[in-house]
Amino acid sequence: MPDLIVIGAGLSGLALARAAAGRGAEVVVLEARARIGGRVLSHRTEAGAYDLGPAWVWPAIQPRIARAVHAAGLALIEQAEAGGFIYQDQAGRTQRLPHGFAQEPPSLRITGGIGALVEAVATGLAPGVVRLEHAVRRIALTGSGVAVAAETRSGPMTLHAARAALALPPRLIGGIEIAPALPPSVQAALAVVPGWMAGQAKALALYDRPFWRDAGLSGSAFSQAGPLGELHDASLPGAAEAALFGFFSWPPALRVARRAALPELIARQFGTLFGAEAGRPREVIIQDWATEPFTATEADHANGNAHPDYRPIALPAPWGERITLAGAEMAPEFGGYLEGALAAAEAAVIA
Ligand SMILES: Cc1cc2nc3c(=O)[nH]c(=O)nc-3n(C[C@H](O)[C@H](O)[C@H](O)COP(=O)(O)OP(=O)(O)OC[C@H]3O[C@@H](n4cnc5c(N)ncnc54)[C@H](O)[C@@H]3O)c2cc1C
Repeated sequence: MPDLIVIGAGLSGLALARAAAGRGAEVVVLEARARIGGRVLSHRTEAGAYDLGPAWVWPAIQPRIARAVHAAGLALIEQAEAGGFIYQDQAGRTQRLPHGFAQEPPSLRITGGIGALVEAVATGLAPGVVRLEHAVRRIALTGSGVAVAAETRSGPMTLHAARAALALPPRLIGGIEIAPALPPSVQAALAVVPGWMAGQAKALALYDRPFWRDAGLSGSAFSQAGPLGELHDASLPGAAEAALFGFFSWPPALRVARRAALPELIARQFGTLFGAEAGRPREVIIQDWATEPFTATEADHANGNAHPDYRPIALPAPWGERITLAGAEMAPEFGGYLEGALAAAEAAVIA
């Protein structure tokens, strides 16, 4: 019987599994999706990896990310922000400003994408520890620990362990039957915690070259017209191609309703913001996290853009003696961020 079953193979669950295994625990990680990474996902081309989930880290103020990037031997890229900035008003009119908002400390990306960091953390786990396509549906407290039931391709399975750790957005815990049931006050406390960016979506446009730089533009823009609200250069240094990306300002319901037209609408918006050539991307890739059942719930569709003040939640006895909560939203600091995912893992392994 394993000592610990970690539910969720995002950065937090993988880091927790790795830390627990490092302390000699026998660990199993159950992951619902057919891939690791959770909200970390890249679009790959021959030139490299573009992040469709998190892209930025701030190692100057995020010690765990700094250590993990260093341990993985990964290089950092400064977000390209130099040059003119475009503002688009509600009527679609554009205005060129000399520069955008200075980021302090600067936002950095990771060569190979954030996925490279996740892969590096997972590589430290023994083969067979991470079990993909295991969607956990029930956790029961037993006399000696927990019984975790999951749906797999080959049918339902149950695994027993001394403890379980839930490393997923807190609202998703409501979709897992916990027996005996958590007190209503605890269920309610979990249900109000938004998954950070879980209701968001990103669009990536690929081009042959970063032509906007010829015009002295940074590739950054802010739009009140949509579909995209905040845009940036996503190009990979030295690559034989270039890219722009944007976060949607349109809410999830509108994105779904206009799904078929989105690539065309997005190309048109890029063209309006950065010139005719930007209106002819080689490819537009859209990743809508709000439609992913293992990231977002219906409640996350109404998430605002303001960063919530995340606080860790500990389950009361008897659940708390067997079930620990991890995941970025349970972080003691940097809640919601990748640094928070690591901080929550660190706190959970000590708990
Ligand atoms: C568009 C976007 C942009 C972002 N930008 C940034 C950024 O620039 N910088 C930053 O620091 N952070 C950013 N974030 C936040 C960042 O993605 C998260 O902090 C981090 O990925 C959370 O990791 P996690 O392991 O806690 O959760 P997740 O990555 O959500 O992992 C949870 C895992 O649990 C699995 N799971 C869910 N339910 C079950 C179940 N029932 N059974 C088994 N497995 C289950 C999921 O499939 C998933 O793999 C962004 C997020 C998004 C969506």
